Amino acid sequence: MRAEIISVGTELLLGQVVNTNSAYIAKKLASLSIEVYHHITVGDNAERIKEAIEAAESRSDMIILSGGLGPTEDDITKQVLSEYLDVELVLHEDTQNKIITYHKNSDFEMPKNNQLQALMLMGAVPLLNDTGLAVGSFLEKGDHSYIILPGPPDELEPMVENHLTQVIVDNILDEQKLVSRIIRLFGLTESQLALKLEKVIQNQMNPTIAIYAEGGELTIRITAKGQSEEECDKMINKVEKAINKEVKEFVFGYGEKNLSDVIKDILIEQEKKITAAESLTGGAFLSSISSDLAAGSIFDGGIVTYSSDHKHKTLGISQKVIDNFGVVSPECAIEMAERVRDMFEADIAVSLTGVAGPSALEGNIPGTVWIGIALNESKSFAKHYHFAYKRNKNRRLAVQNALDLVRR
Ligand code: ATP
Ligand code: MG
Repeated sequence: MRAEIISVGTELLLGQVVNTNSAYIAKKLASLSIEVYHHITVGDNAERIKEAIEAAESRSDMIILSGGLGPTEDDITKQVLSEYLDVELVLHEDTQNKIITYHKNSDFEMPKNNQLQALMLMGAVPLLNDTGLAVGSFLEKGDHSYIILPGPPDELEPMVENHLTQVIVDNILDEQKLVSRIIRLFGLTESQLALKLEKVIQNQMNPTIAIYAEGGELTIRITAKGQSEEECDKMINKVEKAINKEVKEFVFGYGEKNLSDVIKDILIEQEKKITAAESLTGGAFLSSISSDLAAGSIFDGGIVTYSSDHKHKTLGISQKVIDNFGVVSPECAIEMAERVRDMFEADIAVSLTGVAGPSALEGNIPGTVWIGIALNESKSFAKHYHFAYKRNKNRRLAVQNALDLVRR
């Protein structure tokens, strides 16, 4: 099996953008034992894209095109391939619905040409785009397979990792099995994780290891290719062991479940109730805990008191604590957690108080947060954090760290 990658984009030719896509695709194909014999780069020009496809067909079995799936006039890749192969472009309905919903939920009006992103080659397997709008295609015709991928690396990489590899295994390498395991982590940055796993990832071809960051949480996807699922599982176990050696303390779960899903599962299993007293996060913690149907069994209510006045009047924080220590203090965080625990007779109470920014409060710089925990059976405590971001990211990180503290 010989493959060839055609990168489309005038900005690549001119050196304005470095072609990371072809390197990424080539590595992925190597892990599937598919050899890449040529990389070609062409501008956004129909004639030269056709020439490149023709040349590729003469010497390769698999032809992969990346870039030019967008809605603008210079995005012509699939139109050119459609014409060249004499295969019509057809609407992929799920993608069309996604594009319509996306525009409904955002402030932008949908430009008419946006529909173009929902077109794929007739008879192709659609390649879903988890992080963008344009759908990709995998088409087998005659002796060749043709693959169309989007240009932005943050769309192309998940499309290859989450969808294309499986489609290739199913359609081309059908004797082989492909098994993935997803590990979820919180508490370090993507680059810290990459650094810690540098040795593990280096030269790791099968299984492959991919790291993604999303909404402050991290995902490691381990994908193994082998003769049977058992063989793949064994290979994955070995890699997971090596990963755990470096970062086990940050691992909070597996698969699709995020931090708040995992906490909810633990609380349901232990038949415990949780509550929170929130200040700077304005209810975001309670919202994340109460976002699914099972919430009723783990959550009776909570309190949001933003002003110092209502921390005293509504939540019952003693005026002495507020006057002597301030509301951004461990003393206040602990008292908030204990008050709300008693109010709702909960097993676990969380409090969040701090300075979201942009201005300082009580002499504390923006990003200063105290998270308090009050349980029934052990002593209450508060932990200090400092997040050096803008207001909303500081608030989001406060919520995620509170969830992480509950998990630990
Ligand atoms: P869009 O909908 O964003 O227009 P597209 O599928 O049409 O996506 P292009 O217009 O070709 O893709 O490229 C979009 C952006 O993706 C480019 O500006 C460039 O930054 C990046 N990009 C494209 N091709 C590559 C590549 N081979 N390597 C790295 N980055 C790339
Ligand atoms: Mg484009």
